Amino acid sequence: MTTDPISYLPNIAIDGPAGAGKTTVAKDVAALLGYRHIDSGGMYRAVTLIAIESGFEPSDWNDDRRLLAVARGLDIDYREEAGETRIYLGGRDRTRDLRDPAVERWVSVVASVPEVRWALVDKQRSLARSGGVVMDGRDIGTCVLRDAPVKVFLTAAMPVRVMRRLMQKHCTGSPASWDEAASSVVERDRIDSTRSESPLRPARDAIMIDSTRMARCDVVSQIRFMVEGKIDRRSRVKR
Ligand code: C5P
Repeated sequence: MTTDPISYLPNIAIDGPAGAGKTTVAKDVAALLGYRHIDSGGMYRAVTLIAIESGFEPSDWNDDRRLLAVARGLDIDYREEAGETRIYLGGRDRTRDLRDPAVERWVSVVASVPEVRWALVDKQRSLARSGGVVMDGRDIGTCVLRDAPVKVFLTAAMPVRVMRRLMQKHCTGSPASWDEAASSVVERDRIDSTRSESPLRPARDAIMIDSTRMARCDVVSQIRFMVEGKIDRRSRVKR
């Protein structure tokens, strides 16, 4: 591993379990640095949403060629609008639908199909080709952007993660009980950490941040300092 400063815009990988606050933090870091935010979970959610809307049976998903065709042909666009990352599928803003409880229930199953992952990893890598991307997910540091100079594994204690998930569900108009949110977080973590293809785990060179007792802005500042430590001062960092 080189310790030299780098002279291009680095990519930043943020991984962690469900409800750790990755997407919120990634969005804030990207806004602060003028980078592009890519929520890779949005791609897995998009394939799941399209599969559900197309009437595919979850029991067939493990060897469903149609699921792979959806992943390969995914027409997804991330747009920054009014300080939010909106996700468009086929030219339509589907950000809200991607948080639908049915999508939430099945997304980890879809994400455990290796061929689906390979297709989406290709798309994620091509979005990050020019650098200057903050990408959050489960396998960004270990697989998608293995060479990213800044890697973070963000965690938080389980009750905090469940509380964050509850608040997110409330804000997206699909409120849930504590037990529902807790079992969804536990089940997604279980499937994500035990799948054969790029399971959820920290990259060897990731910095672990436990955000249980940290304010959101402190987590963002810590990542910003990590990025600044890696960047040549003459590079084109937009502020
Ligand atoms: O981050 P988010 O909760 O939107 O991710 C939804 C699901 O997508 C995760 O629970 C996981 O199953 C899958 N995922 C993944 N790899 C990623 C991003 C998300 O397997 N890089």
